[in-house]
Order: sequence, then structure tokens, then C-alpha cells
Amino acid sequence: MKSLKPLSLTLLVALGTTLAQDVKTYAEGITPADLKENLSILASDAMEGRATGSRGQKMAAAFIRHHFESLGLKGPVNGSYYQPVELYATTPAEIYVTAGGVRVNNFTDVLYLGSADSRGEQKSAVVFVGKASEAELAQVDLTGKAALVMMESLMSMRTWRTTADLLRNKGASMVFLTSNQPTDDFRKLVDQLQGFLSQGNLGLKRPDPNNPNKGMFILDRTVAEKIMGQSMEKLTKAMNGEAAKLPLKKLKPGSVAYSTKVNTRVVASENVLGYLEGTDKKDEVVVITSHYDHVGKNPGTTGDVINNGADDDGSGTVAVMEMASEFARAKKDGKGPRRSILFMTVTAEEIGLLGSEYYAANPIFPIEKTVVDINIDMIGRNDPEHAGKSDYVYVIGADKLSSELHEINERNNATYTQLAFDYTYNDENHPTNLYKRSDHWNFAKLGIPIVFYFDGIHEDYHKVTDEVSKIDFEILAKRARAAFYTAWEVANREERLKVDKK
Ligand SMILES: [Zn+2]
Repeated sequence: MKSLKPLSLTLLVALGTTLAQDVKTYAEGITPADLKENLSILASDAMEGRATGSRGQKMAAAFIRHHFESLGLKGPVNGSYYQPVELYATTPAEIYVTAGGVRVNNFTDVLYLGSADSRGEQKSAVVFVGKASEAELAQVDLTGKAALVMMESLMSMRTWRTTADLLRNKGASMVFLTSNQPTDDFRKLVDQLQGFLSQGNLGLKRPDPNNPNKGMFILDRTVAEKIMGQSMEKLTKAMNGEAAKLPLKKLKPGSVAYSTKVNTRVVASENVLGYLEGTDKKDEVVVITSHYDHVGKNPGTTGDVINNGADDDGSGTVAVMEMASEFARAKKDGKGPRRSILFMTVTAEEIGLLGSEYYAANPIFPIEKTVVDINIDMIGRNDPEHAGKSDYVYVIGADKLSSELHEINERNNATYTQLAFDYTYNDENHPTNLYKRSDHWNFAKLGIPIVFYFDGIHEDYHKVTDEVSKIDFEILAKRARAAFYTAWEVANREERLKVDKK
């Protein structure tokens, strides 16, 4: 290496200082007032809670697009700021079970959980498999027949899916779950699940109506009795413990007719992307994300029914918008980032991280050139654990794939923002599983380093009370600046972030 002359050294030090002043100038351009101005629009009642596919979501998208456009960012999707994300909504239609000549409709004494199906009524023999123990399953042949299983309790929903999968693997064409527990109150189960199940499902994959039936019926015991033409007492006796007296294979199969018609409709939504081209390393891309969708309106018409999502994730979205403003301003001043930056506010996060999943599967810029995802989801509030000490933020994921990212994030915070970084949720074994619960996860899965900023879970989470009036804009600005400093260094440093873990 060539030795530096004293003059060059002085020059370098001076240059270093200038750069440090630059980043501070722009980071401090992210102000509480600007954040408030944008959030007051984005999380207003007019946006109707920004549910994916809704009018409010489209209005929010237009608002963000207009902002990107006004900054001079480019729309990178064939000239557009929108990446269309097509979703498929499935909702229960004609669903019933007919047994012993009686038709029982969905949400009365039967509940159906399953995907799209446009076939009409199906008729089937039904084999009772007791508790579906290995010994019991050895006695029966399920091929092409439906299976009826006696659960410990219908209230332990976690076991539904695994039980159904087990029986399908044994050849069952449909799975019926019931229980002989007198404590199981089917009405309560319906009350608990009807609202949720009626809304149906939104997914990225077009459901195949000709290959459906990953579904299952949950039955009140009276319906199970009708299907088998046997009393609950008799069925209970036939179960494993008393198999010697009444082996399952001697039990006459029951019969059933059922329909599991689920309708499918297309819901059009969009990710909103703004692109700022870099200088000498423009092929490499820094991605900065938030989700602009939220959970929409509550059913009902009285009182406040709008989930404004001011914190979730209005706060992250206005932070991304302000970061875009400042990087764009720096570029106009001739201090634009060396790497390119993609500001992306995604849709459909609340229904399963679908907007970011879509981007990860259909990236606009090559995944191998994507250097980092800096994700912000809720940074405008305090959680009860930090009551009265607001200068904190949870940092999640920064050290998982790249030690450098963690180090950069820590160092910039120590130099500039001095927030208390709380790593509680960084533990992958933490029961909240937050490392996998926002959009960064779809990047991390591909081996792209990520850092996720988050304020914690508070009492207004996913409620109509998540409103602009409850946001602390001072702390929101501070947290947005922390993300900005890290983004600035990752975008401008000589070396691309190294992936040195996993
Ligand atoms: Zn969120």
C-alpha cells in the first residue's frame, strides 16, 4: 500500500468530517412535523383502515405514490410505481352435511375449514377411527372413504390440522372431527369462529377448485351420531380401550352427503415502489420497507369502527416516506447514495406478509444484488414495558445474517441517535416469534441481511384506538433517524455488507 502524505491525510480527515456532517444534515431533515403531516392523512378516517383490496388501501397507495413522484423518485415497475399483487379471496358458500336424512348447514352444528371447491354434493361412506391411534388405524381401511375421529376435546384447535393431515395421508377423502366431551359447547365454538371463518381467506395462490379438500368438518356430537347411525355411548365403547368388546372393524360404516362449496374472487392490490438510482454502485440495491395496509373497518355501524393503524404501520410508512425525502434531497445536493435505494411500502402484510412475499418471488431488482432490507413496522408508540422511558426501540434480526449490519446499526446509534436498543425480541426462541412476523422475513428467508425496528405490543394494537392522537412524533422521528443512519452507511460504504452467518 502506498503511504499517505500528511496533506492527503488531512484531506481525508476533512472529507470524513464532511460526510459525517452530511448524514446528520439529512437525518435531521426527518422532523416530527413532517411525519405528523403525512400520518394525519395516511391514518385518517378517510382511509378507512386501509384493508387490503379496499378503497382506503387504494387511496393510501395513491398518496404514497404521489409523494415518491414529487420527490423525483422513479417508478421501477415498467415505469410505474405500482407492483400489482393479485390475491385470491375464498369465502364459504354452500356448505352443509346431510346425515340420517337431515341437512345441517355450516355455522349451526357443523363448521367447515377448507379451501376452494366448486364441486357439488359428495356422497361417501364414513369409517369411525376412534381417537385415530396407531392401533385403531391399523384396523381400518380409509381409501376413498371419509373418516370420523373422536377428539379429546374440540376446544383444542391446535390438534385439528395434524389429526386431519394424518387421516388424509391414510387415504381419507374427507375428515370429520367430533368429541364426546360433555364440556364441549359447540355453540361457543361457532360463536368464536364464525366471524373469522365467514371472512374467508386471502392468498397469493390461485386455488384449484378441482383439487380441493384439504378441508375438514368439525361436528357437534349429534351430527356424528346421525352419520354413524350409532349413539355416542356405543361409539365411545368402540374406541381403543374397549376394542376387544366392539372392534372398530366390526362397526358398520356410516354414510354422509356433504357440500364444501367455497367461492373464489380476485382481489387486486399493489405494492408501492419508489426508486432512487445510486452513483458508482448503482447495481446494488438497498431496500427500505414498511407495510401501508392495515385491518380495515370493524363490522357494525355504531361508534368508531375504523382501525386507523396510525402506529401499525402508518408510523413505519411515513418514516419510509421521510427517509425517501431526505435521500432524494441529498441526491439533488450532489450527495446521492452510491448504491441504489428502493423505498417500498407493501400491501397485504396483515393477512400474512403477502405483499412482501410476492415481491420476494417476483423481484423488480435481482435478489443477488439486494444488499439489505431495512424494515420498519410500528415505531410511534411505547409499550407498557417502557412506560415513561420512550428513548428505546426494539431491534430485531440485525445480527442474524451479517455481523457488519449489527455493528453499523449499533455504532451509528451510539454516535447519533442514542436510543436504548432493546434486543428482547431478537431471540429466535422468543414466544412472540417477531423475527418472522413482519415483511423483512421474506428477505431474510432468501439470505438477505435485514434489520427490523419495532416499538412493542401496546394496548391499542389492532384496535380502533390506534390513532394519530396517540403517536409520539418526537420519538417516531428519532427512531426513523436511527434507521436512516444505518441505511446511509450501508448505501454509501465501500464494501457491500458481508453475509457471514448461516
Ligand atoms: Zn404491522
